[in-house]
Amino acid sequence: YNTCTPLTLQITQEAAEGAKAIIAWGNCACAGCVQAANPNPTGAKAIHKVIKGKPIINVQGCPPIADVMAGVIIYMLTFERMPQLDGLGRPKMFYSRRVHDTCYRRANFDAGLFVESFDDENAKKGYCLYKVGCKGPSTYNSCGIIKWNEGTSYPIQSGHPCLGCSEENFWDNSPFYKRMPDVHGFGIEATADQIGLALGTATAAGIAVHAVATNIRKKELIDNEEPESKSNI
Ligand code: SF4
Repeated sequence: YNTCTPLTLQITQEAAEGAKAIIAWGNCACAGCVQAANPNPTGAKAIHKVIKGKPIINVQGCPPIADVMAGVIIYMLTFERMPQLDGLGRPKMFYSRRVHDTCYRRANFDAGLFVESFDDENAKKGYCLYKVGCKGPSTYNSCGIIKWNEGTSYPIQSGHPCLGCSEENFWDNSPFYKRMPDVHGFGIEATADQIGLALGTATAAGIAVHAVATNIRKKELIDNEEPESKSNI
């Protein structure tokens, strides 16, 4: 749901009037999703940009994970309060870790073993998808833990890079429009010390810049987060 026409905006405002709190389901409601992608011809906006003065919980994703949607509602009904949110209004219980941090391919990333193009030999071996656009290092979601369809699989497990669908402006930042920073890897025999040393070199500048940017952003999210005690409903 988003607010790209006068009618949908009016419906949103009327529905919000009597609400104690608003749950925004999915990237459309949380951030505008594909409708709001540049040049955003319809002027689509996220719910939090048109409704003020109400607690808003952004259950992000395109679509959000069904278990996460159920979990948020059950939490609110059980405890009669808002879940603790991060700086983008996402419930921290489901969005506090990067997809990269829980990815079963992470050992391949650390060892410098990458898929170079879709369906190459490395793809068949299950190597890391960073070089074909994976946004897992900058995306906060539970995909790697909860997965989809009753824990069956998730995009990375199916061989597709993470698109970053639980982040704002993910269409504009799509890996299919923007190349990821280059990375050469460290070799499968590299020790943790060698990896740490290499991170200081120009060859790993892409990863280092990325990691710093991600951590700065995470700190901003933590600094901006709503204390749970302030957000009871
Ligand atoms: S870059 Fe993507 S595929 Fe590679 S380890 Fe991180 S999340 Fe997994």
